[in-house]
Amino acid sequence: MVTYDAIVVGARCAGATTALLLARAGHRVLLLDRTEFPSDTLSTLYIHQSGVERLARWGLLDQVRQSGCPPLQTVSYRVADVYLRGPAPTLPGVVGAYAPRRYILDTILVEAAAAAGAEVRDHTLVTGLTTDDGRVTGVRLRTNNGIETTERANLVIGADGMRSTIAKLVDAPLYAEHPNLTCVYFTYWSGIPADFEIYERPGGWVAAVGTHDNLTLIAGYLPQAQFAHVRRDPKAAYLANIQATAPPLWQRLSEATMADRLYGTGDQRNFFRHAHGPGWALVGDAGHHKDSINAHGITDAFHQSELLATELNSGDDPTATINDPIRQHAALARYAAARDQHMKPTYHTNLVTARLDPDPHLLTLLRAIQDSPELTERYFQVVAGILSPEDLFTRDLLARL
Ligand SMILES: Cc1cc2nc3c(=O)[nH]c(=O)nc-3n(C[C@H](O)[C@H](O)[C@H](O)COP(=O)(O)OP(=O)(O)OC[C@H]3O[C@@H](n4cnc5c(N)ncnc54)[C@H](O)[C@@H]3O)c2cc1C
Repeated sequence: MVTYDAIVVGARCAGATTALLLARAGHRVLLLDRTEFPSDTLSTLYIHQSGVERLARWGLLDQVRQSGCPPLQTVSYRVADVYLRGPAPTLPGVVGAYAPRRYILDTILVEAAAAAGAEVRDHTLVTGLTTDDGRVTGVRLRTNNGIETTERANLVIGADGMRSTIAKLVDAPLYAEHPNLTCVYFTYWSGIPADFEIYERPGGWVAAVGTHDNLTLIAGYLPQAQFAHVRRDPKAAYLANIQATAPPLWQRLSEATMADRLYGTGDQRNFFRHAHGPGWALVGDAGHHKDSINAHGITDAFHQSELLATELNSGDDPTATINDPIRQHAALARYAAARDQHMKPTYHTNLVTARLDPDPHLLTLLRAIQDSPELTERYFQVVAGILSPEDLFTRDLLARL
């Protein structure tokens, strides 16, 4: 039986990119998913500039562009009497953000992992783990045909989403857990071109993003406390939310057509999970999940897979870093610390946004910003995670405040 350096369970934003980066460094990688590709998943689509920049660095952004995904070059934000509008933040080599359909993006990622040398098996459900003296040594899996088998690896990486089977099997403890705050419904519209628009009011949040096929995804968030009521007639609640939260968008909708059914969820968990143990690690939603309102899940999955792969590919002999238990433990501990350090600030900002209660201090700040194109640009850079919040407080802003 082959012993892989790593088996990655889950082949979307976190798993396919982890497999890609490990395979490119020469590791023997097996990438498994219970589903097939192309296939969709429940998610809206926005990728922040730092995520787009990673796609560019990994050589995948051209494929996203060539798939017909339009760049989102302007961003606007309307809340109370405030209206901010400016160019989308840029990073070197990256103009704008992107919102590719997941069945297209995830397929590009899986194919890139395969091209890098990872062995990819779809229609393969991981049902259990093999262990030796408390150390994970492989996975038990079942194919679509019902064939059950075992594969061995020196490291099993759970990239299997918020309800991670791997996290359950290793009993990874949760910490920094917060209650669900919102519920979300979204669908695709034709005849209403948009780049990236955000609208907020107490008790409501709406975003519109342009995607493939001249479609615009419009998502509406409402408080979790309303979920039981909303799910009785989600379409009525979705439309009423757009009307109340985003009146200018609502007016444009009279010219538009709903091009798909409505999708939604109230299962918007907020947590960190312990990220590693003997022979296992978690990446992406499996190890850390947050309300989707600020659209950081895909960008953060890319960031985490890069942090994990950087540690596992480090040292004179990266194969030894994965395969020697002591070096593996040290690499995974560094990954876990870096993950928490990088993810905590956005996690907390996200919790604030998900309360759906615009802060009066924020409104004061936004009023001071909205007449200045430079400060507006800086504000959107902070939202995109390119600048830290302190960088917003220039002399100009302090004088205006
Ligand atoms: C409504 C909604 C809107 C969102 N909007 C955005 C947004 O605009 N921007 C953004 O960045 N993020 C958004 N997110 C979050 C984003 O979708 C996730 O953070 C992202 O998909 C996480 O990627 P992942 O690879 O960690 O997990 P997932 O995308 O969940 O992939 C996990 C994979 O693991 C596979 N799997 C699971 N269990 C097993 C098993 N036992 N065996 C084999 N395979 C298995 C699944 O089939 C799946 O393919 C949104 C989420 C929701 C719910």
